[in-house]
Amino acid sequence: MNAQQTDPVIFRTLGSARAAFGSADIPCSSGGHPPGLTDFTTRAFPGNSAVLYGKQIHSAISYVYSPERGRHPGKPTCVGSCDALITGTKDIVLAVQTADCLPVALVGDGIAAVIHAGWRGLAGDILGAVTRRLRAEWGVPEDRLAAVVGIGIGRCHYVVGHEVKEALAGLETRAAGWCDGATVDLSEWATGRLLALGLPAEQVEQLQGCTWCSPHHHSFRRDGPAAGRQWSGICLVSEDRSS
Ligand SMILES: [Zn+2]
Repeated sequence: MNAQQTDPVIFRTLGSARAAFGSADIPCSSGGHPPGLTDFTTRAFPGNSAVLYGKQIHSAISYVYSPERGRHPGKPTCVGSCDALITGTKDIVLAVQTADCLPVALVGDGIAAVIHAGWRGLAGDILGAVTRRLRAEWGVPEDRLAAVVGIGIGRCHYVVGHEVKEALAGLETRAAGWCDGATVDLSEWATGRLLALGLPAEQVEQLQGCTWCSPHHHSFRRDGPAAGRQWSGICLVSEDRSS
C-alpha cells in the first residue's frame, strides 16, 4: 500500500511559531530539493524559501541556526548531520523528514526547534538534549516550552526487540504502559519523556495516528526501503507574515 494523495498538512500555532506536519503526497513529488521539500514548504509556509534541514542519522545532535553563524540561506539548505534543528531567527523554516519516526516541534520564548525522533534518538535522549540546550543557551526553562508530538508508527504496528525496550527503559518517562509485551508506543513514551523533562501536560499535544495504518502517511515498515517521507517543519513567523 502506498500513501495516497490526501489532506496534506496538519498545522499548529505555538506562540509565535507555526508548526506544520506533512502527510502523504508531499515527499513523493518529483523534483524538489530534496524530494518534496520545496512542495511542502510552499504549502506549509508560503513565502518562506529559507529552509534548513539536516542529514538525519538517528543521533541526539542538534544544529542551531543564527545569523551570526552564517548567511541567511535564502533557499533549502542541508546543514549537515543532525536530528534536531533550533533557531531564534524569524522566517527560517526548520524541517525534518520521517516515515515511522516521530516529528516533534518545540517552542518557547521565541526559540523554535524541530526534532526527528526514532527509538535510537529518543533513547539517546534527543528530547532532553534539545530542552537542556534551550535552557542553557537561551535561558528558556522547560516549563515555558510547548510541544507537539507528530504522527509516527503506532503501537499497533510497532513490534520491537528487547534492545529497543531496554534502551528506552534507560530514561525516565511519565508514560504508563508504553511497553506492552513485544510492542512499544513510541508516541506515548516521547510525550511522557517531555513531561518528565518538565513540560506542563497542558502544553504538550500528541497527534493521534499510526503511519502504517494511515493511507495518508508514508511508513517505512509498511512500504519498505522505497517508502516516501513526511516532512514536518516549524517557523517563527514575523508579525508581517502572521496574518
Ligand atoms: Zn498501525
